[in-house]
Amino acid sequence: MTAPRLEIDLDKIRHNALTLVQRLARHGISVTGVTKAVLGSPEVAGAMLDGGASGLGDSRIENIEVMRAAHVRGPMTLIRTPMLSQVKRVVAGANVSFNTEIDVIDALSSAAGKAGVVHGVVLMVELGDLREGILPGDLAHMVRQVLRLPNILLKGIGGNLACASGVVPDARNMAELSALADTIDASFGLLLQTISGGNSASLDWALSGADTGRINDLRLGEAILLGREPLHRQPIKGLHSDAAVLVAEVIEAKLKPSEPWGDIAQTAFGGKPREQDHGPMTRLLLAVGHQDTDPGGLVPPAGIELLGASSDHLIVRAEKITVAVGDEIRFQPNYAALLRAMTSPFVVKRLTTRAPEMARLCQMARVSGMRNSGRVV
Ligand SMILES: *Cc1c(COP(=O)(O)O)cnc(C)c1O
Repeated sequence: MTAPRLEIDLDKIRHNALTLVQRLARHGISVTGVTKAVLGSPEVAGAMLDGGASGLGDSRIENIEVMRAAHVRGPMTLIRTPMLSQVKRVVAGANVSFNTEIDVIDALSSAAGKAGVVHGVVLMVELGDLREGILPGDLAHMVRQVLRLPNILLKGIGGNLACASGVVPDARNMAELSALADTIDASFGLLLQTISGGNSASLDWALSGADTGRINDLRLGEAILLGREPLHRQPIKGLHSDAAVLVAEVIEAKLKPSEPWGDIAQTAFGGKPREQDHGPMTRLLLAVGHQDTDPGGLVPPAGIELLGASSDHLIVRAEKITVAVGDEIRFQPNYAALLRAMTSPFVVKRLTTRAPEMARLCQMARVSGMRNSGRVV
């Protein structure tokens, strides 16, 4: 079979989504399925919706356009603040966008007017992670400006943590977001509909039994796709952590010395070779590299150890097992490895399902091909 190959089990994705939707529903929280790591794959989006996600979120309008073109149902939110240069596409494709800049919301307002639509806006609040967000002290002023704009509907507020600085979502910062919602509602006579409490890193907090306050939605990508929480990268109980697998093919298998010889300078990617002399070892070369995935983000099966990678080669050590040229080895990608494999045109995407309705979707994908992200087989 063609390699390298990313195998995505849609039934496992649906199970992961369903499990998280059910667990969070007990706390009054809905799930927005985040599709950016799979480039807005309509099949994966469909599996998330089948699992009960109330809508879809993606950081790129291009991915939302792909889902729209494939007639994926469900509301779609652009979860990165729009580029000014893309506002027209944003109001055409997304029902809602996350925003932090009045100039952008102003441009969205004009574009929505021209398109004859009302565009929803969620204002992102800076809660300490120092990525996107309006400083809490500036939120009321921003709300006042947004409420004056035609064709814009203020849907709610949200926060994002654990991305740029690894700040952990906890009772304090989540309570701050809730309290801001109460303050805005009281000051402006509103009832903000969506209080979006973060990404997969907010799961621990949401399911801890803590008071979830006004938070009524989480945006989940990694937890659904990989079955792991991103704070400590531990598997989440009851979820599949092997819904996505990267398969690579062995192109060389030899017993070689463990220590390089000759004068030693930098490696292809600037590192220092780290090998010491362990005597001869079975070294395998696999036809996968930095141009296909993030090699450091691959978890090998038992008996295989990652030694290094270049653009097109992955070097591993095989213990005890006998592997031959042409054999395939299956790796579990982390988020970065998954993202890059999805984005690489060299990696074939293979979506599988046992559900007839989903199988039909996969069939359609096979016919239409997947946009600049490799062939679907
Ligand atoms: C990527 C992203 C998410 C999803 O993050 P996961 O860790 O994959 O759940 C949620 N919100 C925003 C704003 C994002 O950029």
